[in-house]
Amino acid sequence: MVLAHNLGFPRIGRDRELKKAQEAFWKGELDEVGLRVVGQQLRTAHWQVQKDAGIELLPVGDFAWYDQVLTHSLTFGVIPERFRGHGNAKPTLQTLFAMARGVSDSCRGGAHAQEMTKWFDTNYHYLVPEFTAEQQFELSWEQLFEEVDEAKALGYAVKPVVIGPLTYLWLGKTKGAEFDKLDLLERLLPLYGQIFQRLAAQGVEWVQIDEPILVLDLPQDWKNAFERAYNLLQKDPLKKLVATYFGDLEDNLGLAAGLPVDGLHIDLVRAPDQYPTILDRMPAYKVLSLGLVNGRNVWRCNLEKALEVARHAHERLGERLWIAPSCSLLHSPVDLAREDKLDAELKSWLAFAVQKCQEVALLARAVSQPEAAEVVAALAESRAVQTSRAASPRIHKPEVQARLAAVLPADSQRQSVFAERIVKQRAGLNLPAFPTTTIGSFPQTPAIRLTRQSFKQGKISKAEYIEAMHSEIHHAVQVQEHLGLDVLVHGEAERNDMVEYFAEQLDGYAFTRFGWVQSYGSRCVKPAVIYGDLSRPKAMTVDWIEYAQSLTDKVMKGMLTGPVTMLMWSFPREDVKREVQAKQLALAIRDEVVDLEAAGIKIVQIDEAAFREGLPLRKAEWQHYLDWATEAFRLTASGVKDETQIHTHMCYSEFNDVIESIAAMDADVITIETSRSDMELLDAFEKFAYPNEIGPGVYDIHSPRVPSKEEIVTLLRKAALRIPVERLWVNPDCGLKTRAWPETKAALMNMVAAAHELRNDL
Ligand code: GLN
Ligand code: ZN
Repeated sequence: MVLAHNLGFPRIGRDRELKKAQEAFWKGELDEVGLRVVGQQLRTAHWQVQKDAGIELLPVGDFAWYDQVLTHSLTFGVIPERFRGHGNAKPTLQTLFAMARGVSDSCRGGAHAQEMTKWFDTNYHYLVPEFTAEQQFELSWEQLFEEVDEAKALGYAVKPVVIGPLTYLWLGKTKGAEFDKLDLLERLLPLYGQIFQRLAAQGVEWVQIDEPILVLDLPQDWKNAFERAYNLLQKDPLKKLVATYFGDLEDNLGLAAGLPVDGLHIDLVRAPDQYPTILDRMPAYKVLSLGLVNGRNVWRCNLEKALEVARHAHERLGERLWIAPSCSLLHSPVDLAREDKLDAELKSWLAFAVQKCQEVALLARAVSQPEAAEVVAALAESRAVQTSRAASPRIHKPEVQARLAAVLPADSQRQSVFAERIVKQRAGLNLPAFPTTTIGSFPQTPAIRLTRQSFKQGKISKAEYIEAMHSEIHHAVQVQEHLGLDVLVHGEAERNDMVEYFAEQLDGYAFTRFGWVQSYGSRCVKPAVIYGDLSRPKAMTVDWIEYAQSLTDKVMKGMLTGPVTMLMWSFPREDVKREVQAKQLALAIRDEVVDLEAAGIKIVQIDEAAFREGLPLRKAEWQHYLDWATEAFRLTASGVKDETQIHTHMCYSEFNDVIESIAAMDADVITIETSRSDMELLDAFEKFAYPNEIGPGVYDIHSPRVPSKEEIVTLLRKAALRIPVERLWVNPDCGLKTRAWPETKAALMNMVAAAHELRNDL
């Protein structure tokens, strides 16, 4: 027998029940008992659905009220001072949500939430643990044990999931006096001992210990710490499966294989080359769990291909072979059966979490019972799906492929170098020093959302919709003129989302109705699915931008989403490399840039918010990614003449290690998020002598707080110390869609006044 197990199941529910309950609870519309009932129902349903799919060992501990890393912080008592009540009271659900969301408290000044950051290279965000040098750890949260009891009472065989000690420490940050996080390991390890003791007493046999940092470039002292830590944990009860995912163990392969534990899980979807090397490094007693079904995408598994590996492994390992998804299914939508609007062919190519569990179980069964009728049928079906996809004219568009194949190096090159372009652009644009602009979106008011929704549901006609949007554009233009901004935008009222808006208009993209994935807390995203060669049937934004330009003599900036961001925030194809998909997108968006230029638009902004996100986990792979990502951007931007000014926008603040590629993108102007870093991140641009123009964000758009003119002046003066003034722009950190109009106007008014003051200094 080969064991089918799962590393984790999505917790949100197939109808996002958890999101709805969380939000109702926060609003005071649902009490704690009600919230807990929803959680329990979801867990019960999810165990059942996994069991029904054929998963034999079910994960417990994958449920979280907000985030699994936060659950661990509570479990270990890693609760920052600002969230601790009086005395040494145990944390409550209020404590948990306070850590996640912050509290405003007029008397005590409140407490800001813990920082949130991306979980490895996924779009899931976790809450960063905060450690102090005196950090003590204490078992403070019973959730895992309660959920184990809950599952056991329902009769399930369970495998609790915990984040391993090294990964947990790695994910945190230090506060206060500087110290080495690794120094906390000795203090933290006894907690794992206590947890394992308790689980053993509950009748648990196996525990899964997630150590995904084993696929990263680890400093030597962290590698050494692995051996030390697991040698100590060895004496504790329970069989331990160390789980790695999201990449190749590479230089850590020997370390991971040799840890004194009872099993190792590896991700063979992201890193198939680890197999069969791993076999020779595995001690003879150990279980090897193969992650053969992609936990992070929506495509059906190629069962025959996966089965080849599984059979080979089975010959070597026998019963010591386990089969699982590549990683927790947290990153995949819940249930394909819910999709009633997808056409049958496309649907037959997809698998969500429930279906992925079935695939895992099928693979396990196929190894031991290759003749079983069910196995034979499933394999035949899988083969048919692969064949139909490989040959489908819906996917393979010869004209798209031919166009890409014919791309020449010159196509990714502007006609002249920046120094020459900027002279022509300045002559044509006629802008003052410190030109002011915004990043694109203006407040998405309830009225705008309602109009878009009514149009989507067919409640208003296209003409009515266009009229309503025109009036929003009109309003936005009036406000901007009144404020005295120099480069205007149309405001993006027609866009639900910066990726979805374009994806809906491109061929090769499909949309699900229920394909939600948790992004953080109660926030879920429903990425579009790239299923085929990508192309643009017709112009996507020109009418709106042209209309906006017709309302003003000022320069109207066209607004597009770049190819890398389109790709990173979609479910990509698995049958074609990411870079090919990015370049197909690049060509499609390039046509839009050219069309905007032809319509008389002098500035086009191509947003690449996700450019940095795409960086691979391993440094050695960075350059390859940066090369094709940069190339895709340039291909998008280079169809226009010198006079047309290309902007790009990136809303984050770490550029040091990628500044060379940012420069290689060769946008005429880049706007970035800087206000919270006090302009310090401009250091990277200064040090590199970044040659093109820059608009460092002068105020944080995440809060309704209105920045004063003086603050903005101070920030701009700091910027001017680092970047020559003739190359500085003045703009907010990012788009304003989440803001309301009153604060937006007030803030922009101060921003424009600040720009005037700097002009006077000249
Ligand atoms: N143009 C987009 C906006 O203003 C950019 C958003 C982003 O960078 N996340 O909303
Ligand atoms: Zn932004």
